[in-house]
Amino acid sequence: MFNRSRRNLARWFTLSMGSILVLFAATIYYLRLEDKLDALDRLLYKKTRVIAASIQYEVQQGNPSVDLNSVPLLGTGSQPLDTELVYVRWYDAQNQLKRFFGAPPLAKLDAVPGFRTIKMEQPPDAGVWLRQVTLPVQEGEVLIGYLQVAVPLTALQSDLQQFRLLLTLAVPITLILIGVTGWRLGGVAMQPIQQSYHQLQRFTADASHELRSPLSAILSNAQVGLLMSGNQPQLQPCLENIVDSTKSMNTLVSNLLLLARHQGRLAPHLLQRVNLHTLLKDLAVEYATQAESRTIKLICHLPDQDLEMWAEPDLLRQAIENLLNNALKYTFAGGTVWLRLEPSADWAVIQVIDTGIGIPQADLPYIFDRFYRVETERTRENGGFGLGLAIVQQIVQAHGGQVRVMSVEGIGSTFQIELPLWFYS
Ligand code: ADP
Repeated sequence: MFNRSRRNLARWFTLSMGSILVLFAATIYYLRLEDKLDALDRLLYKKTRVIAASIQYEVQQGNPSVDLNSVPLLGTGSQPLDTELVYVRWYDAQNQLKRFFGAPPLAKLDAVPGFRTIKMEQPPDAGVWLRQVTLPVQEGEVLIGYLQVAVPLTALQSDLQQFRLLLTLAVPITLILIGVTGWRLGGVAMQPIQQSYHQLQRFTADASHELRSPLSAILSNAQVGLLMSGNQPQLQPCLENIVDSTKSMNTLVSNLLLLARHQGRLAPHLLQRVNLHTLLKDLAVEYATQAESRTIKLICHLPDQDLEMWAEPDLLRQAIENLLNNALKYTFAGGTVWLRLEPSADWAVIQVIDTGIGIPQADLPYIFDRFYRVETERTRENGGFGLGLAIVQQIVQAHGGQVRVMSVEGIGSTFQIELPLWFYS
């Protein structure tokens, strides 16, 4: 129970811190990308401005003309500006291509002014990512054309790839560290709870143990009184009441003691090889008379071959007895109760099925809770303290198994104990 809570604490800690970490890593990655792209854009813009500065524009006899001859990379007698540029294109004010350097362009301008990241379609650089800027060039108020320049993103991509590699290594390592820290913190957080829980368990066990002797004394005295009250019949109902109440208190105290003593998994030295076939057969014989007295048919269905497992025989017996007691208690005369054993490769499945009053759906999630009782007339008449199923669950869990219930009100209930056959072997 405590380990499960500790695991849950560690899991939630890792999940929440992990999410923050991943979000943080993604933000850092995004900021770095923005930063790099911004630096590249500024450089690209600077280069484009240098190229644009060499464009000559004049109006001769009323006709505007653009002279590109001295423009780096585009002009005939110009010096190459930068071999890193993938292309430089000049479009006139009507978006028509006039001159280009590098990769063959489209005849018409297809981009709005500004920066864009694009993928090269044409060979030889097909598939290469580029950063492109389209700059409108003006002479005073007059737009004379568009300069389009692109640089490869290879350097930026490899830089980001290295950064991603760093993050893919750092994030899992940090996650592992967070997990370990979460597990340790979970342990520290559970310590005081565990301590007070054990104190409470010890108190319940001690108190129950101490109560047994006075209860036995009351019971035996009341029984002696009952025997000797022959000539005082008015005392008899009182003494019978004391006997009944003390027996009921005895059961409660024994149940509390059982619950307090058997917490968590059973220690291996307590386990024995138990033949489930024999155990269930004995129980069926034992309960046959009780069932008969209530005119309930008890059917025992066991497999042909023996089935053995490691278990604490008394506890296992107690768990099945509790289920059988309930089945007989909550089934009307004329009904049927089945006790079944279904073996599988690794599990023993014990079922107690009845055609009794059933359990309302709303109560099903709580019936294994301590002191929980379904409030019906039948349970008021027959029920105990609401500890029977809590004991069943605790015993089954102590054997590494689980108990399930399926029930339909007015039709009946099926309680199923699933025990691992090789858990302790
Ligand atoms: P109790 O001692 O009161 O029977 P349990 O823990 O054994 O306590 O059962 C809890 C509640 O579950 C009971 O009050 C009863 O209403 C319901 N219950 C248990 N077994 C059955 C059953 N076979 N059929 C119908 N109701 C059941």
